[in-house]
Parts: sequence; structure tokens; C-alpha cells
Amino acid sequence: MNKDIFLTNNLNNKKEKFIPINKKNIGMYVCGPTVYDNPHIGNARPLVIFDILFKVLKSKYGNNSVNYVRNITDIDDKIIKSSKENNISISELTNDIIKGFNDDCNYLDLDKPSQQPKATDHIDLMIKMISSLIKKDFAYKKNNHIYFEVNKFEDYGKLSNKKLKDLIAGSRVEVSENKKNAEDFVLWKPSAINEPFWDSPWGKGRPGWHLECSAMSKKYLGDVFDIHGGGIDLLFPHHENEIAQSRCANNTKSFANYWIHNAFITMSNEKMAKSTGNILKIKDFKGNTEGQVLKLALMSAHYKQPLDWNEKLLRDCQNTIEKWYEVYLLIDEKITLSDDILSPLYDDLNTPGYIANLHQLYEKALKGNDNDKGLFVLACNFIGILNKTKEEWLYIKKKKLLIGDSDILIKIGLRNKARENKDYKEADKIRNELLDKGVLIEDKDGKTIWKLK
Ligand SMILES: [Zn+2]
Repeated sequence: MNKDIFLTNNLNNKKEKFIPINKKNIGMYVCGPTVYDNPHIGNARPLVIFDILFKVLKSKYGNNSVNYVRNITDIDDKIIKSSKENNISISELTNDIIKGFNDDCNYLDLDKPSQQPKATDHIDLMIKMISSLIKKDFAYKKNNHIYFEVNKFEDYGKLSNKKLKDLIAGSRVEVSENKKNAEDFVLWKPSAINEPFWDSPWGKGRPGWHLECSAMSKKYLGDVFDIHGGGIDLLFPHHENEIAQSRCANNTKSFANYWIHNAFITMSNEKMAKSTGNILKIKDFKGNTEGQVLKLALMSAHYKQPLDWNEKLLRDCQNTIEKWYEVYLLIDEKITLSDDILSPLYDDLNTPGYIANLHQLYEKALKGNDNDKGLFVLACNFIGILNKTKEEWLYIKKKKLLIGDSDILIKIGLRNKARENKDYKEADKIRNELLDKGVLIEDKDGKTIWKLK
């Protein structure tokens, strides 16, 4: 692929040409889940968006040239709280949620990241980083806590465009009498009784949340790497703090060169929140929606724009994929995608633009030959759509039918009898009953046939 990739970099909020440090070994770090509860569709959006970026990078630089690291936060206040509430051990809880998370990723048919490190496997590296920050006088100890002293790092606030004086105590930062300044953030804290702990030079305790990404990105990608991503809610303070810790500990002028953040999902134009009960978990879709339908819906808005989630969106995507399967065929390996087709994705991951291309390719395939159809399917496959064969798609649909084959035939028989008796009201009623169960009947050449809706 000769085309350049452009990405909106939150370091300067400009769309920039992507220039890797080493095009044979591109580093991408994305903040992964905190495993205290099953992921919801708001969590699914970055999973899908950064999967697309992973695919785009691989298409340009080669399959083995991208080192994609997505961490798992398996120690955190929310995890401790949830384990207490559910009366199960922390490891039972986190193992269960990690399994569910991996199942969700399979359901969405995402490419596996190169690494999926867990925070608790890297506590020693976090302790090492804290020691280095204390030694360099960027961190201090107070009442068994270690804090990062924000005003010692002059570039603090550059990513989120915040000025230190605007960080009013109590609004965006946690206030504590232990801190020298309200904006300082915790690197290490003592564990309460019955909470997990690790030994450290500062006593038994556990790390602050921000630190794990600095420690793990250093291990897997080095002190300076290409891309760091996550949801927009992580921009401040999480990513700002990662930059401060990493640059001060590693003594570097930069950390990640490109910062990419995806916008929120709203639910029928309302903020998704536990308190209003409008949170949809990924696993809740599995019973009646194919993963690729959910994925198409998640790609329907540009990643920088909020995505409004509603019933109609999902229904439209279901109908689109249904329609697209009409021209499905197994791909001839000789077909390749042109720069033109892929260009919206290379231009700042413009997924709606790419979907518009797919609609055009579908129209062409509908009138065209097997080559046109193959090209269309290949373009869908690029973003993980039409990734099941037509037979598999129909089989999955049929499994979800609420009525068996023999019952369908009985109903058709009853309908034909009603028609013979000119009881068209009854005939229509039976037809609609079947339609509700996903079965469409058609009268053709004196015969009645049925197919899946
Ligand atoms: Zn992170």
C-alpha cells in the first residue's frame, strides 16, 4: 500500500501524517478493561476502533510489523468493591470477567492484540519506576503514600490542554491531606485490611492506577513509541499522568508520538450511566444479534464523534448485512483491495466513509460478475464484516427461529385451507404469525414456499 495514513493527534489536535519510529516494529498501546464487571457497548467502541487501526497499520506495514499492546487492569478500587459485594475472591472475580471479556472480543471477531498484559504481573516494574521517580525528586512520600509532584513536570497539561492553576482542588482531582498540592496523584498507597497487597520499600500496599500503563508500555514497547489510544474519558487525568510519570522516569522528551481517543456512546441521546440503568452489556446482545451487526453499528459514526445508540441503528445494520449476504461468495485469493477503496480508513479511520464505499461496491456486485462480488466481500472482510459464510449466517439465523420446520409446514397447510375457503382474514393472520417468527412465505406458480426473513 502506497497511501499514507493520517490520524488526529490529540497532542496538538491536528490531523497528521503517521510516521512510525521504525516501520518494521510499530508500537501501539491501548488502555484495556478494568475487570470488575462485564464490558458494555461503551467499552466495545474503543475495542472496535483500535482493531480497525491495527488492521490498517498491518495492511500498510505488514502483518508482523505492529506490536499492539492492550492491558488488563486486574487490581483497582472498583475490583475490590465488586469482589466484596459479590462475596467472591478477587482472583475468582477477575478470572471470570477476563474470560467474559475474551469471549466478547471473539464474538466481535477482533484481531488478537500482540500482548495482553495484566497489571498484577508487573508490580515489580511499577515499584522500580516509583523508586526512580523518588530518586529523581519527582515523587515524595507522605504517610506511607507515594505521590507524583505534578508541578515538577513543566509539560503537565499539554495533552489535555489544562493549566495547573485551573485544576481546582476537589473538582477534577482527589483531595487528600497527605498531598503537598491538590493536583498531585498517587503512585503507591497502603492496602487496607483484607485488601490485596504487595511488599515494597514503602511498606505493604498497591500501586495507583495510572502507573501500570507507564510500566507495561515501557516493558513491551520501550520508552518512546508510536501510538497510544483509549476512550476520551482517559485523556485526563489518566493519559496526562502516564505522560508525566513515563517522561520523568525515563528522562525522555516524548512518550507516545500519536494520541488517539474515541468519543462516547449515548443511549437514545442520553448519557449512558449505571444510575439511569441504560447500560447495555456486550454479552446481552449475543442471544439475538450477530457480532458483525453490532460491529457495523459501532463503526457507523466517525470515532471522533459521539455515537448515539438506539434500536433503529441496530435494526438498520441487521438489514444491511442481510442484504449484503445476497451477493456473498467465497473469495478468489487473487483479488486485492485498491488504495481507492481503502482510502477513507487511511484518512483518520473514516469508517462511515468506508461503509459508504461498501454500499457502492454492493450495488456494483449486484449487477456485476463474480469478480465484483469477490471484491465487495473482500472489502467487507477487511473490517471484519461478512466474516461468516452465507451458510453459517443462515444457520445462525435459523437456530434463532422460534418455530420448527414441520410446524411451519402445518401453518402453511392451514393457511392454504383458509384461502381455499376464501377466509383471507385467517390466511393473513397465519402469514403474519409466521412473519413474527422470522419466516416469510411466498405464493409462486400455485405453490407456497417459505424462507427466512
Ligand atoms: Zn492506561
